[in-house]
Amino acid sequence: MSDSNNLIYPTDKGLYCQAADVYVDPWGKVERAIITHAHSDHARWGSQNYLCAEPGEKVLRYRLQNAPNVESMPYGKTIERNGVKISLHPAGHILGSAQARFEYKGEVWVVSGDYKLNPDPTCALFEPVKCDTFITESTFGLPIYKWPEHEELFEDINSWWYKNKSEGRNSLILCYALGKAQRILAGLDTSIGPVYTHGAVEVLTEIYRQSGLNLPATIKIQAGVKLEPGSIILAPPSVQNSPWQRKLQPVSVAFASGWMQVRGIRRRRSFDKGFILSDHCDWNSLLTAVKESEASQVLVTHGYADVFSRYLQTEMGIASSILSTHFAGESVMEQEEVLEEVSEVIEETE
Ligand SMILES: [Zn+2]
Ligand SMILES: [Zn+2]
Repeated sequence: MSDSNNLIYPTDKGLYCQAADVYVDPWGKVERAIITHAHSDHARWGSQNYLCAEPGEKVLRYRLQNAPNVESMPYGKTIERNGVKISLHPAGHILGSAQARFEYKGEVWVVSGDYKLNPDPTCALFEPVKCDTFITESTFGLPIYKWPEHEELFEDINSWWYKNKSEGRNSLILCYALGKAQRILAGLDTSIGPVYTHGAVEVLTEIYRQSGLNLPATIKIQAGVKLEPGSIILAPPSVQNSPWQRKLQPVSVAFASGWMQVRGIRRRRSFDKGFILSDHCDWNSLLTAVKESEASQVLVTHGYADVFSRYLQTEMGIASSILSTHFAGESVMEQEEVLEEVSEVIEETE
């Protein structure tokens, strides 16, 4: 699907709205970019002008190494470029994440970026935006993905921490440094003990605080800092089995990701515990978002785009096709490995 008659279409630099001469999350260097959120597969360095939603401006500036022309606007505010009305609306993915809405000659397109419908105290709740064409991600676009409720999940995390502490171990949660770590931090029961962070998590947590979020206190692990026994530590997945991790012993290691729904991955990656925690939609949330958009056409990017797109066509009667982009989703797991595991799970549950 690359019809340049469409209001928005993919180019070799990214999704392009020609009428407004604006790209959304471009992977090439362009003059004018709207950035849905600061994850590295969406916010790339090298463009001339960046526009994002206001709550995410500080995070984006940090991620773009203080690129000179980063501007923001509040959610819901409309600007006009060459007769195209453009506004940003909460996507519920991470702090400042936005869906981009384009209206031109009575036609409305929405680019979702990454999004989720589950509650998250560290960002504004996803806002359904009605449109004619909805461009959606489908990172977890398979029916096997169903996220646990927020309360249930955090009860699980806190009781795991409490149990580890009472057995004399530290608790390490591996999670993405931007978004996931702060969401977990916000849900921790800090009456259990102190929270320590890896430097990569600490710097972003501090930017979240500067952006106005009230998060529990954290202590950055660095030379001279001694861990209190029974602590919890938040660190990016890259520290697994590193010398850095070995200094936390005795420690129980958990990984927090949507992929943890797939048992085989948990087993093979030798985590002690997997928490099913994603900043993307599960299957039902994707369907809800599509319905609430009331779109007559849905274009699907990354993840299980083929499965999800086919389902929309055959089961829901919505015109749908796949849009190829460079977005990676929660790509810590190799896609092939996931597919293999998923087919195992499907076989087991069928
Ligand atoms: Zn993202
Ligand atoms: Zn993404």
